[in-house]
Amino acid sequence: MKFSTKVVHAGVEPCPVTGAIMTPIYQTSTYVQAAPGDHKGYEYARTQNPTRDALQNALAALENGKYGLCFASGMAATDAVIKLLNPGDEVIATNDLYGGTYRIFTKVFAKYGIVFKFVDMGNMGEVERALTPATKMLWIETPTNPLMKIVDIQACVNIGKQHNLITVVDNTFASPYLQNPLDMGASIVLHSLTKYIAGHSDVVMGALITNDDTLWTDLKFIQNSCGGVPGPQDCFLVLRGIKTLHVRMRQHCENGAKIAQFLVNHPNVDKVYYPGLPSHPNHEVAKRQMRDFGGMISFTLKNDSMEAALKVLTGTHLFSLAESLGGVESLIGHPATMTHASIPREERLKAGLVDTLIRLSVGIEDAEDLIADLEKAIG
Ligand SMILES: *Cc1c(COP(=O)(O)O)cnc(C)c1O
Repeated sequence: MKFSTKVVHAGVEPCPVTGAIMTPIYQTSTYVQAAPGDHKGYEYARTQNPTRDALQNALAALENGKYGLCFASGMAATDAVIKLLNPGDEVIATNDLYGGTYRIFTKVFAKYGIVFKFVDMGNMGEVERALTPATKMLWIETPTNPLMKIVDIQACVNIGKQHNLITVVDNTFASPYLQNPLDMGASIVLHSLTKYIAGHSDVVMGALITNDDTLWTDLKFIQNSCGGVPGPQDCFLVLRGIKTLHVRMRQHCENGAKIAQFLVNHPNVDKVYYPGLPSHPNHEVAKRQMRDFGGMISFTLKNDSMEAALKVLTGTHLFSLAESLGGVESLIGHPATMTHASIPREERLKAGLVDTLIRLSVGIEDAEDLIADLEKAIG
């Protein structure tokens, strides 16, 4: 089945009782049993819920995976993955990472004895050098946030396979419309569904997708034991969002490309970070592993003062100043004080994230209107 057909149909069946075409919101905490242990596959709603099941199946289909598991947020999904590990185990992660991921690694799990090493995954030599006999996991985010570096998923998977590692890909920025890491051999795909997949800035949720029976069994055990599950109403909202994922993504990509070009041509703009630009250092890898280049763009101004950046950040009207990304509406953000404030400044600078970097989540509005809005703010 093609992607556009899957987003509309995968995982969902008309209700067998009423024929309702939309998956009902099973707003229940428990399920009646005919006799002890004699039930219809549902016992308690932390463990199973039919609305969540439909969503988990739909997500598995979109990522060409066997299994999907949903969590109360993207961070709850990350939390579950790291709970696969034991004290002393080591994780090698991308150094240009979502701020919350860096925070949970260094501030929550490091104290349980799990070791995190952050390397530039644009350079496979750095990954190889960070390997030790204790390495258990590779943590990849691509495109990276906020510098839009592209990590070669296949090259990482190859290293992971050689050393028997669990390879995790945070696919939030790309969405399954742009790339499917399981097809390249990754062990687990992680999504913050909050972003492109739900797509309407009205729900916080996360998910894991895998083809591996053992990983699925272990992660399902953690999902049920730790209990970071989403409610059925939110699952319904994500199911609804998914039905337009392909048409939204098409527009995000089209607008993203136009705005990146506008920024490149603007005399006041210095650097533009967008993997679709032929000048992007990882453009060839991006072309190979992605179907298109998405709607996330970062840039700096020639005037590198904080004052100039703030003028742009507060000068747009269609681009709202807010954290998050991937919704239908355009957002503008300041990673150093917003999404990436939880990363120490010296770490940010080491990764190339300067204080004056501006990040755009390009929405699905008319590109001409968006460009006019930026033109006014950039001057
Ligand atoms: C937002 C985000 C997360 C965290 O997801 P939440 O749903 O906010 O918990 C993880 N990774 C990336 C790349 C994100 O953008």
